Amino acid sequence: MPPHRRRLTPTALIGGVPVGAGHPIVVQSMTNTDTADVVSTVRQVAALARAGSELVRVTVNNEAAAAAVPAIVEELDRAGTPVPIIGDFHYNGHQLLTRFPACARALAKYRINPGNVGGKRHDEHFRAIIDVALVNEKPVRIGVNWGSLDQNLLTEMMDQNARRAAPLDARAVTMAAMVESALQSAALAESAGMRHDRIILSAKVSGVQDLIDVYRMLASRCDYPLHLGLTEAGLGAKGIIASTAALSILLQEGIGDTIRVSLTPAPGGDRTEEVQVAQQVLQSLGLRSFSPQVTSCPGCGRTTSTFFQEMAQQIQDYLREKMPVWRAERPGVEEMKVAVMGCVVNGPGESKHANIGISLPGTFEEPKAPVFVDGRLVVTLRGEAIVPEFLAILEQYVADRYAKPAAVPAPVGEAALPR
Ligand code: SF4
Repeated sequence: MPPHRRRLTPTALIGGVPVGAGHPIVVQSMTNTDTADVVSTVRQVAALARAGSELVRVTVNNEAAAAAVPAIVEELDRAGTPVPIIGDFHYNGHQLLTRFPACARALAKYRINPGNVGGKRHDEHFRAIIDVALVNEKPVRIGVNWGSLDQNLLTEMMDQNARRAAPLDARAVTMAAMVESALQSAALAESAGMRHDRIILSAKVSGVQDLIDVYRMLASRCDYPLHLGLTEAGLGAKGIIASTAALSILLQEGIGDTIRVSLTPAPGGDRTEEVQVAQQVLQSLGLRSFSPQVTSCPGCGRTTSTFFQEMAQQIQDYLREKMPVWRAERPGVEEMKVAVMGCVVNGPGESKHANIGISLPGTFEEPKAPVFVDGRLVVTLRGEAIVPEFLAILEQYVADRYAKPAAVPAPVGEAALPR
């Protein structure tokens, strides 16, 4: 893997989580519960954190939500899930943060949308939020969104553009206005006393090419850490693919220090899917490792039974189930590669390149499944119990290869030494 060059930034500390070029790209997510409902919000934040979200944002949209934030943070601490909580503010952030000081203290960061900070009294309200952040020594994310772009700024820039000899198209002006909004707000925050290394910027749009353009522009004009995400990415495969396409190009260019994948969950769907997708984007690019990767072939006419698909799924599920325990007890296991292949054409070859791999029999092949460990054929499985036998070999491999280092005994105290 060639070295990956990140765009240089200072480091912003978000409740102890470092965000910036010198640190791994941080995965974050956002709840969709009513923040005032402490029980539901704590449950969802804990689920997101367990799935691997290193920061979690909650909307703080009214007084009930602001009043609930300290209880949410306390409850998460009590439950042993102390993930930093970010408050998302629109329209009334200046009032809520001022009237609910415990909320302001409990949050790890405030997200401010400069397009929703009070129209004619924009600067005054923005300044009020920054003042609270200064008192509480909190970082902020200045998060521009094209759906709520500062209309005064956009109008002014459109007017200026119309006077140019060769005016740009409306899209280009909108992208430029987003960058301008983020940078002007950051300058305003710094003029109010906010430290340079306590500011993160974002400029989210819902089109892939727009996102790439706006972030390239933003990245070239400042060194603030950037929060990356395609806003309103959409449902299911469309949302996953659009987010992956946009994020991958920017991340590959070294742009982006924390990411969120904004998927619309299906009714009753699992909110943690957005965390899994974000992790998979980073792991597929070779930027971070979160869990063992399963290489499985797509199957074809040589594997006419469903056994191969079922086995690949069972192994994937097994790895996902084991990961919370392995993460703590088996350091390095997230780097493991497992191959599950459907027939002899590519099976043995791919299996040899994995830490552990199995090549299943294709339709017209002998009913046997060779298992390779670190490139060597160690056993050939047959019969009905191939899956549990392979999982037992996998479990043993993990236990042997990723054993937790023995704790170093504490130095003997002077008092205990013989005199
Ligand atoms: S490895 Fe075999 S079963 Fe899998 S896609 Fe290739 S030829 Fe088909």
